[in-house]
Amino acid sequence: MVENKFRPIPMVDIKKEIQLMKAHLNQSIMDVMESGMFILGEKGKELEKKLAYYLKSNYGIGVANGTDALQLALLALGVGKGDEVITTPFTFFATAEAIVQVGAKPVFVDIDEKTYNINSAKIEDAINKNTKAIIVVHLFGKAANMDEIMAIAKKNHLKVIEDACQAIGAEYGGKKVGTIGDIGCFSFFPSKNLGAFGDAGFITTNESSIYTIIHKLRNHGSEGKYDHKYIGMNSRLDEIQAAILLTKLNYLDKFLRQRKEVAMNYTKNLNFFVKSPEIPKHNEHVFHQYCIELDNRDDLKITLENNGIASAIYYPIPLHLQTSLHYLNYKTGDFPITEHVSKKILALPISPMLSNKDQNYIIQTIRAFLN
Ligand SMILES: *Cc1c(COP(=O)(O)O)cnc(C)c1O
Repeated sequence: MVENKFRPIPMVDIKKEIQLMKAHLNQSIMDVMESGMFILGEKGKELEKKLAYYLKSNYGIGVANGTDALQLALLALGVGKGDEVITTPFTFFATAEAIVQVGAKPVFVDIDEKTYNINSAKIEDAINKNTKAIIVVHLFGKAANMDEIMAIAKKNHLKVIEDACQAIGAEYGGKKVGTIGDIGCFSFFPSKNLGAFGDAGFITTNESSIYTIIHKLRNHGSEGKYDHKYIGMNSRLDEIQAAILLTKLNYLDKFLRQRKEVAMNYTKNLNFFVKSPEIPKHNEHVFHQYCIELDNRDDLKITLENNGIASAIYYPIPLHLQTSLHYLNYKTGDFPITEHVSKKILALPISPMLSNKDQNYIIQTIRAFLN
């Protein structure tokens, strides 16, 4: 049982991935160094073009990180003071933080217990005259119920922002997530499925008017030099990150396929014992995280740790119960599914290069624990 004591199995093996691409990455970083252009240069433009093409989006805009992407999206849609934005309480904090940062109010709707994404059947109850938009999160890499959400949005004249930070490359009904709503937001945080060597993010839209405004907002609202049409942000994606991302984009589909294989192997070996992720028919899951659900989650986590295996809890405190959001007056019991899942869920190591040997060791350790 102690064979992994000196090399714990991490949640995601970024070093191993980088090793595979090292020569290409080195060259791309050197290219930027020699160009002497570090902000808003050719690499950034090339990334915007290539990634928009990959996602089949009319427009793509590089920004500083995924949180800024969400904030810029809300600003571009004119969401601000007095407005309400519907979202899920079961997501990374940034989703709600962006809403608060633009002066609007987050309104939570409970999740669906099978997908962990917002329960579209409960959205209409949360809509009132102040509601301006819905931020849909494709959690863990699995697309949310976009057909129903888009229909609700259309009927109620709401905008839809997709938080696709965990789901680059995932598809819903043949379309890449992030291209179905009005605006798509992506993060290239190093541990995301497409990760930079620092912070970086991306915005997609099919609307030229939205593209035009976000293009200005990310650079101090300026149109040309020192001509500031709007109050914007300093939220640019730098050239080194763009060069790294351009290189890594070439490996993305292969890595996503490998992630899916690892996930399928977990499901095959564990679904008899624990609740494992379901994949709806019209929906592709890119497994940013592979999460199981079980009653004695905390004990399993300790057992894994004692056996040199990392695991993680996404997310232990639902957003409606976060200290900083107490002013919204939510309480325990408001979103029972979210609260239940936050106590039972555990994410297992997953990366494109998780070896069979390591994965079998993880599976055996879990099975031994459950017996
Ligand atoms: C990572 C993440 C973000 C924030 O992205 P950053 O690049 O870290 O700012 C937002 N929403 C979700 C769902 C995320 O997973």
